[in-house]
Amino acid sequence: METKKAEADEIFGNVLLEVLSYNPDSRVDFLKKAYEFSKKAHKGQKRLSGEDFIIHPLEVLGALAAWKLDDTTLVSGLLHDTVEDSEAKISDIEEKFGAEVARIVSGVTKITDIRLVGKSEDLYAENLRKMILAMAEDLRVVFVKLADRLHNMKTLNALPKDKRIANARETLDIYAPLSERLGLGFVKGKLEDLAFPFVYPEEYKKVVEISKDYYKKANLIIKKMEKRILQSLAKEKIRAKVNGREKHLYSLWRKLERPDTDWDFGKIYDIVALRILVEGISDCYVALGVVHDIYKPNSKIGVSDFIAQPKPNGYRSIHTKVFVGERVVEVQIRTFKMHSEAEFGAAAHWMYSDKKAKNATPQELEKGAFKVKKQLRWISELAGWQSQMRDSKEFLEAVRFDAFKERIFIFSPKGDVYNLPLGATPVDFAYSVHTDLGNFIKLAKVNGKVVSLDTKLSSGDVCEIVKQKNSKKPNKYWLDFVVTTTARREILKADRDE
Ligand code: MN
Repeated sequence: METKKAEADEIFGNVLLEVLSYNPDSRVDFLKKAYEFSKKAHKGQKRLSGEDFIIHPLEVLGALAAWKLDDTTLVSGLLHDTVEDSEAKISDIEEKFGAEVARIVSGVTKITDIRLVGKSEDLYAENLRKMILAMAEDLRVVFVKLADRLHNMKTLNALPKDKRIANARETLDIYAPLSERLGLGFVKGKLEDLAFPFVYPEEYKKVVEISKDYYKKANLIIKKMEKRILQSLAKEKIRAKVNGREKHLYSLWRKLERPDTDWDFGKIYDIVALRILVEGISDCYVALGVVHDIYKPNSKIGVSDFIAQPKPNGYRSIHTKVFVGERVVEVQIRTFKMHSEAEFGAAAHWMYSDKKAKNATPQELEKGAFKVKKQLRWISELAGWQSQMRDSKEFLEAVRFDAFKERIFIFSPKGDVYNLPLGATPVDFAYSVHTDLGNFIKLAKVNGKVVSLDTKLSSGDVCEIVKQKNSKKPNKYWLDFVVTTTARREILKADRDE
């Protein structure tokens, strides 16, 4: 028993050191108090894995610290299970740790488990509704929830088989897409890879088997490229970090399964990608020149400049695909700052990396929260719908429809970016630009060519809606192919108003 206690203390001590490394002004006493509170609340409790329960909130704390989050979130992570699983009351927490922590902890508790399977769809819808509301109120609720899910997925083997599969499926359906939409790219990859073998055991084995050789060869190529590129960059006096990154297994499988790939590895260019991190934006373009000087770019697939035109989730980077012998390899170029934003997404806004945040008062940090809220328009959209939709079926459909689908991004002729679900058409695009633009559609052009209105758009398409003079009732047959809730609602509304 003694050794186990010491183990928990040791984990806590290590996380504390990590926190102090990114936030020297961290309120250590505040964190210690929360740790003691959590330890006391979970005393004698075990997880199904046989571990002392306290290890779980500590692992959650560790993830939140790795994402460089603020003290309030860290404390909420330590306390996140105390209300649900022990005697502690939310009023205790508010009294000891303040209203903000209490709000986040109760947000996390309220969400409880979002069940896709099991009891009833109403219950599921209700949970999802709560999660979206909590998210709209304070994103940190979701960060704690994601850290919680991450550790639960790591210890999934301790659960009975049917629960294992249900939880893993839910992770794929809800939590992974959610983390992607929050811009937490690496969390999404981790969650998916943890869930993959439980939900699709056969396919998992197959992908591991088939890709082993490919990864091995690709990694050799990457090593050589790293060396050559670093040398050339040094000649240009550019300080850079160059490394390879492997595509996550689950997303590799998804891509292999796509009809246009059909298990042809030659058609996937980013199985192994080379990443170049530099200091400034102009260095990115110099690095691009250096890369193209050594390796011929594949002009067919081309260069994507997400620095000039960031993706809707804020992602910035230059991607180019170059020939290395017979093979095409993706090279990603970005600044260190863009890299940390890409890895931490919305969480990056809570980081203490900039000086201002370090000296911020709690009130100013609250304002920071407001900024994050404004940036993530889709969350407020979801929260808006949920209040309009009394019926849980309708709500569920809307959310499944929109929020948790794979996304594509479409450009307006002016270069504005719109984030739409996979399968979106020019009609969806029109309604997302403006709620009544859909009623003025005369015709639609994609990449300069007139297309039919049910054309499925692809990421990167430029979509233009040519307007007619007067607004017209939308065609209700559009309902057969639109995929966004906004379009659907507007079309139904016009039909009803008739
Ligand atoms: Mn938990």
